[in-house]
Amino acid sequence: MRYHDITKNDMKNGDGLRVVLWVSGCGHHCPGCQNPLTWDPDIGLEFDEAAYQEIAMQLQEDYVSGLTLSGGDPLFPGNRDSVEDLIKRVKKEFPDKTVWMYTGYDWDVVKGLSLLSSIDILVDGRYMEEQRDTNLPWRGSKNQRVIDVKRSLESGEVVLHCD
Ligand code: SF4
Repeated sequence: MRYHDITKNDMKNGDGLRVVLWVSGCGHHCPGCQNPLTWDPDIGLEFDEAAYQEIAMQLQEDYVSGLTLSGGDPLFPGNRDSVEDLIKRVKKEFPDKTVWMYTGYDWDVVKGLSLLSSIDILVDGRYMEEQRDTNLPWRGSKNQRVIDVKRSLESGEVVLHCD
């Protein structure tokens, strides 16, 4: 897996202050996408141990609430194995931190993936310009949902973290 950036003290991509990994690779190509440079899975830096340690250094801080994966799409097929390894390692080494993920896939398409059990919140769905709303917390268009993954998997229905 390749990535574009690791940003710190982010307040716009999940609860609290977060470290955000911006991965390469997205096949959705939504009109109006803010990050079209991230569509190509072959550009950016290789996600290696040094990159993991950069994230881990942040997660060691009490004021950091957790890790957010965005992009690109962390669930781009070529990213899934690496992402699963990463979030399982984060959950093992930092069990008190939350993991948020942004994906262009709808919940129903990805809810069966094993890696979902290591995610706390999934923001699902493509960005749709005609449903753009800059007042929504954590997302850019009204079709996207901020999903509580654990409660949704337990109940078999989508449970929202917030409206
Ligand atoms: S899913 Fe996200 S990164 Fe991918 S094209 Fe849509 S808005 Fe851009």
